[in-house]
Amino acid sequence: MSFDGIILGAGHNALVLQAYLSRCGLKTLTVDRAPTSGGGLMTLDHPRLSGFRYNPHSFFHRAVTAMPWYRDLELEHHGVRYLEPKLNVAMILRDGRALEWWTDLDRTVASCAAFSKRDADELRRLAEEFKPIVEKILLPEAQSPPLEPGLRRKLLERSALGRRLLEISALSPLEFVTRHFENDTVRAGLLFFNGLREVDLRLKGFGHSIPALLASRAKAQMAVGGTASLAHGLVADITQHGGQIRCGIELRRILVRNGRAAGVELTTGEQIHASAFVASGLNPQQTFLDLLPPEAVPASVREKAAQFQYNLLAPLFGLHLALDEPPRYSAAARHPELNEAFMVLIGLERFGQFHDIVAAHERGEIPSPMAWGACPTLFDPAQAPPGKHAAFLWEKLPFALRGDPANWAKEKEAHGARLLDLWRELAPNLRRGIIRDQLVLTPADTETALPNMRHGDLLVGSFASNQVGYNRPFAGAGCYRTPIPGLYLCGGSTHPGGNITGLCGYNAARVIATDLAQPIWWTPSNVEQALAAL
Ligand SMILES: Cc1cc2nc3c(=O)[nH]c(=O)nc-3n(C[C@H](O)[C@H](O)[C@H](O)COP(=O)(O)OP(=O)(O)OC[C@H]3O[C@@H](n4cnc5c(N)ncnc54)[C@H](O)[C@@H]3O)c2cc1C
Repeated sequence: MSFDGIILGAGHNALVLQAYLSRCGLKTLTVDRAPTSGGGLMTLDHPRLSGFRYNPHSFFHRAVTAMPWYRDLELEHHGVRYLEPKLNVAMILRDGRALEWWTDLDRTVASCAAFSKRDADELRRLAEEFKPIVEKILLPEAQSPPLEPGLRRKLLERSALGRRLLEISALSPLEFVTRHFENDTVRAGLLFFNGLREVDLRLKGFGHSIPALLASRAKAQMAVGGTASLAHGLVADITQHGGQIRCGIELRRILVRNGRAAGVELTTGEQIHASAFVASGLNPQQTFLDLLPPEAVPASVREKAAQFQYNLLAPLFGLHLALDEPPRYSAAARHPELNEAFMVLIGLERFGQFHDIVAAHERGEIPSPMAWGACPTLFDPAQAPPGKHAAFLWEKLPFALRGDPANWAKEKEAHGARLLDLWRELAPNLRRGIIRDQLVLTPADTETALPNMRHGDLLVGSFASNQVGYNRPFAGAGCYRTPIPGLYLCGGSTHPGGNITGLCGYNAARVIATDLAQPIWWTPSNVEQALAAL
């Protein structure tokens, strides 16, 4: 069997890539070990209760409807729908207060002012100041193959906006928050925001991530029908344009002929040939060490792949409840709008907790619980039987619990119970026998389900300074091309990184289509031009 190109792993980035290349007219096949495509875009039926659904690997899809691929691939024609609830994020405190992020900046500022007038003013000032930085620099950068760092700096240094970005970026998110905000709760809430993007709060070079989140037009969104409906839309577009997907296969190796990636071999011995390219949506260790024959990969590349780092603070523990009614927070007595909140954050009470959380992760221990989640059925009743509800919480916890991920097997139910205690403290109706069932998923379960998320890292590789932009995943394999001719990368280990952005696949599509002299039927952004025009 032969194709123009084969894509490894049917995560959303791979599907975005395949959709673009299928629309170019290329004959493509995507292969995946999982029973269904979508990777982190998964919505599952509850194993014991009919009609209840849950989204184990992603739910809050930031700004998806503003992504260029969402428009280009006409996903709404394929039935994809997103909601962006107005009370987008609410941090609920034990004393009944709440810090709220609305899609409307004025309402966010008003909520912040109840904690600190000065911080509220600063929040507004930063959101306004960063709007052009987001629109004119950060979006074109995320939506294009990255520029060489020297050229990027030179272009940014030519304008006031660029210099301001460089100045703020030089800080870590922690330094940014302490420098710009005074109130303990506001500082804590902002650092949580930063953590949602898996940026290590101590990492210099990311001081811009919080103001960029504040300034972004599009906020957290959810797919109607469950997270998997985005995958269904992508698959519909791919198949409509002749692309094929095979799930439930095991890869043995990437075939290399005359030094060039030429297809794949499955563990059954079946070989599938690719005449033009192989693109891997997997991580660097899988791609360069597990699947390529050692003799096909230069020693220096094998070494860099082996050294690719994962996030200590990204792995998540999930608690999913099937309910007779939605969680009702006591704080809604003072803030009735909390009954309509989308993302809810509980257990975060003070700024200093972040130091405890980092220290606990470094020791492989469980810190005092701080978790966020949602009740999807408040907005999309179809995710539970009529009149019933589904809700979940996620908590950042270490992958190697007490030094070994195997310890999660013994600990998972007990920890789920502790997390539920916290939830019940803030939402007392969860004590009244309304829970019909609960599921817990640990960081170790993440790696089992999606082995590309090594060590449970949902970002598929940290943003350590040598693993960002032009050098993600590592120098010599950035910009989606690898040192092996015909082999490309397209997953979260590439620029701009993990999470449901689709931009790794979107950017890879441009690089591969260009190399294969295919027509670029879409209008990609030109980052060099954008920065030169500042
Ligand atoms: C608990 C959890 C919660 C999350 N919540 C959010 C969220 O709310 N918002 C958000 O934006 N992001 C979230 N994420 C992160 C998001 O899911 C990932 O960053 C994203 O899915 C990465 O996309 P990808 O295209 O790189 O590949 P993935 O979605 O990781 O897909 C990779 C694919 O490769 C396949 N694969 C792996 N190994 C092999 C192999 N050896 N052979 C063949 N196939 C293989 C897998 O089966 C999978 O289908 C969450 C992740 C987790 C784990």
